[in-house]
Amino acid sequence: MVSADEALRLVLDSVKTLAAERVGLREAHGRVLADEIRSPRDIPGFDNSAMDGFAVLFADVSGASESNPVKLRVIETIAAGKMPNAPVVAGTASRIMTGAPLPSGADAIIPVEQTRGSSDTVEILAIEPGRNFIRPRGEDLRVGQQVLSPGQRLSAADIGLLASLNRSVVDVYRRVRVAIVSTGDELVDVDQIPTGAQIVNSSAYALSAGVESAGGEATVLRVARDTEREVTERLSEALSFDVVLTTGGVSVGQFDHVKVVMDQLGLKQLFHGVAQKPGRPLKFGLIEDRPVFGLPGNPVSTLVCFYLYAYPALLKMMGRGEIGLPRVTVKCAADIKLAKNLTEFVRVSIENRNGERVAMPTGNQGSGILSSMSRADGLLIGPASQDLLKAGAQATVLLLATEAAGDSTAFFEERHRRH
Ligand code: AMP
Ligand code: MG
Repeated sequence: MVSADEALRLVLDSVKTLAAERVGLREAHGRVLADEIRSPRDIPGFDNSAMDGFAVLFADVSGASESNPVKLRVIETIAAGKMPNAPVVAGTASRIMTGAPLPSGADAIIPVEQTRGSSDTVEILAIEPGRNFIRPRGEDLRVGQQVLSPGQRLSAADIGLLASLNRSVVDVYRRVRVAIVSTGDELVDVDQIPTGAQIVNSSAYALSAGVESAGGEATVLRVARDTEREVTERLSEALSFDVVLTTGGVSVGQFDHVKVVMDQLGLKQLFHGVAQKPGRPLKFGLIEDRPVFGLPGNPVSTLVCFYLYAYPALLKMMGRGEIGLPRVTVKCAADIKLAKNLTEFVRVSIENRNGERVAMPTGNQGSGILSSMSRADGLLIGPASQDLLKAGAQATVLLLATEAAGDSTAFFEERHRRH
């Protein structure tokens, strides 16, 4: 049996980053950038107006006020997308729209709200000291400046930025293809009401969602019944994928064929058994260089092991720079009993109380109790060396629902308004 940290190290050391592929910009959202992106030019590409207003010579208008307006002759109107025709000289101004290029000669824009006038003349009624309302060329990005780095997952803003740099295609890491193999005579699919000793194959759905949340592509294979032949068939099929996740059959039961079949298929085992709760029976190794996770059958153990080990492995394979689950420091809201000599991952919800993040166990921590996993914002790390965390003690929580990092009240300054 290995420790949880040792298990994670063994997993991460044995997976390799996949190749990159070129995709259209619209398909790149949520993908992981494989390239370094530099700006091919200055952005914006020309000095332009930040306001609808008038381009002027500052020297002409520096003394302007409501009681002492400065009158200028308007020589042209410059719309966004149009080039100026004439330079601004003393005594003149050009009407200019937001985003239109600054005419030569002009060194300030006076917003239209601070003017009064007809089509041929304008009176400047005020100036804002220290603000010229000009957006200078290159104020956003300089030519050659690094914009995005490999390993970043592309956000909506990143996609917009790439578009502004004319990147109609982007190199991103290939999505990892993951096979999910559930095992068990008792399993029925979601559209079948279980009878007698049957249960619904919930883990195939949970894992599939987990793989998708990591950015991978999940394929759920047909359930393998508890015979060596079916498990062998299904596992062999699964080996055409990048990663294999199996559920069940890795414990000490009489019908636990998965562990045996994995070995028969040439598993280079890195560990079987982790000093943790839940998820102790986890088995992991490589078959033909493919990572194979023998996840325990109990639905919570399955999902906890997925998040702790498979999820970061998938992120690493897809080139992500940061692969750990986001973690936050919390205070325990109550005493939390821990299993001695095992790292315990306690399902907790997180609340902000008087500006402090407080964690509370979500109820029955049995490894088959999926509802307490569903209520959890994260997994609190109960150290192997301790058997109790006192109320008020500090602890670390790995976040599963990242919204838990803050509270999700709508509205901005009216924090107490509720719909
Ligand atoms: P096993 O490790 O195969 O003995 O399974 C342990 C427990 O997990 C048993 O109660 C199984 O019925 C349950 N189980 C196994 N696979 C699944 C699955 N895919 N979905 C839900 N529960 C499962
Ligand atoms: Mg089983």
